[in-house]
Amino acid sequence: MDCDAKHNLRLGPKLAVLTLLWLPSSTMADWVGETRPMMGTEVSVYLWSDDPEAGRVTIDEVFQEAARIDVLMSTYKDDSEMSKINRGAAESPVTISQELFQLIQRALDISLLTQGAFDITYDSVGQHYDFRAGRRPDATTVASEVRNIDHHYVELDDASTTIRFRQEGVRINLGGIAKGYIVERGIDIVRARGIENAIVTAGGDSRLLGDRRGRPWMVGIRDPRNDDEVVLSVPLADEAISTSGDYERYFDEDGVRYHHIIHPGTGEPASGVRSATVFGPDAVMTDALSTSVFVMGVDKGLRLIATLGDYESIVIDAKGRVFFSDGLQQPENQTIE
Ligand code: ADP
Ligand code: MG
Repeated sequence: MDCDAKHNLRLGPKLAVLTLLWLPSSTMADWVGETRPMMGTEVSVYLWSDDPEAGRVTIDEVFQEAARIDVLMSTYKDDSEMSKINRGAAESPVTISQELFQLIQRALDISLLTQGAFDITYDSVGQHYDFRAGRRPDATTVASEVRNIDHHYVELDDASTTIRFRQEGVRINLGGIAKGYIVERGIDIVRARGIENAIVTAGGDSRLLGDRRGRPWMVGIRDPRNDDEVVLSVPLADEAISTSGDYERYFDEDGVRYHHIIHPGTGEPASGVRSATVFGPDAVMTDALSTSVFVMGVDKGLRLIATLGDYESIVIDAKGRVFFSDGLQQPENQTIE
């Protein structure tokens, strides 16, 4: 165990999932924040502003940006760029925006990094799930569609900014990095307005700017089997943190949990892990890596994280045991409050 770890974890079963401290202020400067339901989850923005009115305008801009990205990436809206790709890219190259091109490029790079655990073509099978309706593909559908899961089927052409699928039936979905991208872009907006302390959260993905004015932000990791409890909380500043869990979008059938993180090798929901948390400098990476560690499992997942100097991870396995990446101090070494 590395005792020079920069992150000290503290057990805090009663802490709120995201502990935000609202400091009273004698001046005009204050914390301002807002939470809105979006993309089947909640997006929230909190920031410290010298001018709370201007702060609220900035918050609105962040929500507008989140809505724009949601439309850009949506596979549900027929006229979105993503829908155009999924309809036409197997037939002929589809011209796309620079922004989407670069995001897909990043997703493919992460597939290589994670040896295919992260794979946006998961949606070849993923499209047949409807978690709200409790619907899942039958074994025959999974067996035939799993053959369309392989990031190598996605071909990007830099010169023409086009995308092509090498195989009929392939479908892509950026759900594994969309929220990370939203919070990263949100913090870019906030920073450009001169704000130095902020947190933008979309579902399980957060990006923190600065600290909580003199103290770190405390980000709680939820107990995967108890909504109201936090297993531990992580003090962080100027970092991103993402959690992927089997409790976000799921249904249970005959004692089996069917959730939204698909193992690209089997086409079935990945098993063995209840939640994977990753933190580090970039929210697109933490978002993709939390999904990847979830798929890879405790051993392979933490081995991957150990190769990435800037990133750390906390994994809760199917038995509820908590595992830490090498750079973290175990809470056993800490004073329990
Ligand atoms: P959340 O969206 O709840 O924050 P994650 O960050 O773990 O959770 O992302 C899960 C989403 O990623 C799924 O809803 C789906 O859109 C997408 N996804 C599922 N399996 C994979 C995979 N193997 N590779 C890439 N993306 C995936
Ligand atoms: Mg993720």
